[in-house]
Amino acid sequence: MKIYVSHDRCRGAGQCALTAPEIFDQSDDDGTVVLLNSEPPPELHVRAIRAAGLCPNSVIRIVDAT
Ligand code: SF4
Repeated sequence: MKIYVSHDRCRGAGQCALTAPEIFDQSDDDGTVVLLNSEPPPELHVRAIRAAGLCPNSVIRIVDAT
């Protein structure tokens, strides 16, 4: 699994950091997403996919979500 984020679309809603705090954090400056781990281990894949689905602006893109 590889995760990409499009910062320009992030509204700082924070659903990603709440859902998968091992993978996503929020900037102290503007609340936008900070990608902590772009290649999370298998045990975190379900949460990464859930976070991508919850993001209101489709900021999070996951490749090889098998
Ligand atoms: S849920 Fe989406 S819009 Fe909200 S902080 Fe995370 S990436 Fe940004």
